[in-house]
Amino acid sequence: MSLPSLGLNQERWNRLLLQSFWAVFVLSIIVECTFLLVTKLPANEFVNLYIIRPTIIMAFIVLLAESGVRWLPKHHDYVLITSATLLAITITAIHSSLEYLLFFLFFPIMISIFYFQYKKLLYAILNTGIALFTLHTYDNEIHDALPPVGLLAMTSILLVYSGIAFGVLARGREVLMHLRTSYESNQELLVRTILMDKLAKTDALTDTYNHMAYHEFKDNLVEQADNGRISLYLALLDIDNFKSVNDTYGHKAGDVVLRTVATIARSKTGSNDIVARYGGEEFALLFTDKSFQVVYDLVEEIRKSIASTNHEALQGLPVTVSIGLNQYTPGMGKETLFQGADSALYEAKRSGKNRTVLAPSITGKIGSLV
Ligand code: GH3
Ligand code: MG
Ligand code: MG
Repeated sequence: MSLPSLGLNQERWNRLLLQSFWAVFVLSIIVECTFLLVTKLPANEFVNLYIIRPTIIMAFIVLLAESGVRWLPKHHDYVLITSATLLAITITAIHSSLEYLLFFLFFPIMISIFYFQYKKLLYAILNTGIALFTLHTYDNEIHDALPPVGLLAMTSILLVYSGIAFGVLARGREVLMHLRTSYESNQELLVRTILMDKLAKTDALTDTYNHMAYHEFKDNLVEQADNGRISLYLALLDIDNFKSVNDTYGHKAGDVVLRTVATIARSKTGSNDIVARYGGEEFALLFTDKSFQVVYDLVEEIRKSIASTNHEALQGLPVTVSIGLNQYTPGMGKETLFQGADSALYEAKRSGKNRTVLAPSITGKIGSLV
């Protein structure tokens, strides 16, 4: 998600502004055509002066704006404000007998507001000011229509409109800043929530998932497995004779070993598998979307890898683990899944440790495989 910014959808807005130019162009022709009905001038002259001539000039200006936006994309804003000024001058000058058209000189100011930038507004005000005073100086009709008091009134109105435009900009920018601040604090909150969530699910010593996260994942996966969407295996891994490791080398050395065992288990499992510290020196491994043979080979690889890792903290000696493995079958229930793996683990301990034993439900089905 991107921050609402001043440049947002600029191309679309440029298109809309150019369309407004074309609208002004068409409206001006329509208005002139209606004036044709009431004019005292000969029709030929009127059409020439007030329809054909302005149409050509205005079409030229709008086409200039179109090409400016296309070929000078970096300066599209100034191109549009300048074209708006030229359009306003044309309309005002060509229909100079209609004083109220002088108000059309504010067109560039209105256009500049779309950019929400003070310097563009200033540029538009400057444009309008220059246009007003140039027309007043060089266009006799406007000069006559605007005596000094009239010019003072127009200038005052220009100042008032500019003030309002500044106010609109300030208000808009205030709202934008507010949006930006709340967007940023929302982002911060989101990141903090994600970090907190990770922290709440992680075991600090081994950097594997904790007991609570294990249950969450397991419940979810059992539901998926019940619907037949995934295959699911649970392996319970318990370090052999860990009490004597602690007793001999100290609790700290025990901690180092726990961390190493966890690292080995994590390094051998994939992104679809879960490694969690189930209890003190006991880990639960959930495997999804794998065949029995793949899971069994993986579990054995983990066991062998642990058994062949020498620990500095234990004066170069390794530790071994016993593993009980069970497969989930739809409708089995999470308790039965756990009990099967736990009994297999118990059997692994009882029959000599440093081995993997399968739960009876698996042995029944695939005993020939092992
Ligand atoms: P077995 O082969 O039957 O599993 O024997 P064991 O000694 O590993 O099993 P037991 O349950 O008798 O002892 C587990 C030990 O694990 C006891 C406890 O001090 C140790 N332990 C549990 N959590 C931690 C821990 O966070 N750090 C350390 N260093 N030791 C731990
Ligand atoms: Mg143990
Ligand atoms: Mg234990």
